[in-house]
Amino acid sequence: TRRLVVVGASLAGLRAVEAARKGGFEGRITLVGAEPHLPYDRPPLSKQFLDANGADGTPPTFRTEEVLRTDLGAELLLGAPATCLDTAARTVVVGERPIGYDALVIATGATARRLPGTEGLAGVHTLRTLDDAAAVRRALDAGARTVVIGAGFIGAETAAAARKRGLDVVVVEAQATPLVRAVGQAMGGALASLHRRHGTDLRCGLSVTALEGEGRVERVRLSDGSVLDADLVVVGTGAVPATDWLEGSGLTLDDGVVCDETLCTGAENVYAAGDVARWHNPVFDRPMRLEHWTSAAEQGALAARNALNPEAAKGYATVPYFWSDQYDTRIQFVGVPDAEEIAVADGDIERDHQGVALYRAGDRLVGALAVNRPTEIMKYRRLVAQGASWEEGLAFARSRSDSRQ
Ligand code: FAD
Repeated sequence: TRRLVVVGASLAGLRAVEAARKGGFEGRITLVGAEPHLPYDRPPLSKQFLDANGADGTPPTFRTEEVLRTDLGAELLLGAPATCLDTAARTVVVGERPIGYDALVIATGATARRLPGTEGLAGVHTLRTLDDAAAVRRALDAGARTVVIGAGFIGAETAAAARKRGLDVVVVEAQATPLVRAVGQAMGGALASLHRRHGTDLRCGLSVTALEGEGRVERVRLSDGSVLDADLVVVGTGAVPATDWLEGSGLTLDDGVVCDETLCTGAENVYAAGDVARWHNPVFDRPMRLEHWTSAAEQGALAARNALNPEAAKGYATVPYFWSDQYDTRIQFVGVPDAEEIAVADGDIERDHQGVALYRAGDRLVGALAVNRPTEIMKYRRLVAQGASWEEGLAFARSRSDSRQ
């Protein structure tokens, strides 16, 4: 029988397994995961999972072990990472043991960037895994004075969770505004007011020069000379694709596993998906690596189908989409944030935390940000996908705005 091996037992890996079975694959499936946990969902980890009155710390597991083993017929190899890929022998090594594959999906995601020199200092956490989130949650339960380093999505959501509990929170961001990488500086600036309105002490344009304490963090020193007292430091400075184990495999690694349009790595029957994959996105005609839930799920499914049937491999074309919940606000973004012009075309994002901003490159609409307009964003996603012009985007936003008057 043929064997599909999926390395990485999270969203993209799970979707790969499910798509293989849905597509009628009857061979063996082995799902390899470095973490000891069953596949679980990450977005809640920086949101509901941290709430004092939310879920009681139950892991956001996708499927029970029974469903994975019985309904999906997957062998689970959890708690040990794959350490090596040999594309000539068609094996991956897990715990010293080579496992043969006929088709392979690489879905090892990304790992949180750590602050150098903080290993062994208690109270300093990243927020990527269930174990990370459980540790942060415990510290919040204990009423920690919280310092968040980095005002990207995860940092911003963590700050919001701490404020919901009424804890003192300082967010330190090296850039001029929060969320620069995700929505660009102008809209990051508009969203800064959201934090301040909720009592988060947001300090931009500063970096952390030292974390101090005896075995446990007590103080955070900043580049302007100020010193913050802290019981909990959450480091939200981004993630790096988990490709260490592929060094020497012959696959092209360049901020992710480099793939073609069909998510093929170039090695026979070896495909990649999710946060680890850098593939050519035809919608924008450029290579991209996304760290978004929706694309990880879609790529996982497609990578499995393509790996099992390369002759009929399909390309993955998408307008990137992600959402984030901060305080009582839902932020959604489609497309790409690097734009020549950004215009708030509906509502007032800075004042009311409600509205839509559009992003222009050349004469094309390339992105849209929706703040507390949850039902709007997919309409803009379709416009971007259709290659709508900037004028069409603006006209559409105006008509939406008028219909609300
Ligand atoms: P991952 O989820 O990173 O999973 C990869 C898995 O592979 C991990 O379990 C890892 O342990 C395992 N692994 C790594 N190396 C190996 C190895 N060598 N062998 C075996 N296993 C290995 N996206 C949104 O769109 N909206 C949100 O609101 C949002 N919120 C988020 C909040 C948090 C706290 C985090 C961390 C992410 C959030 N995301 C959000 C992003 C989204 O969760 C990711 O895009 C998604 O999890 C990517 O799935 P993945 O399967 O590609 O990778």
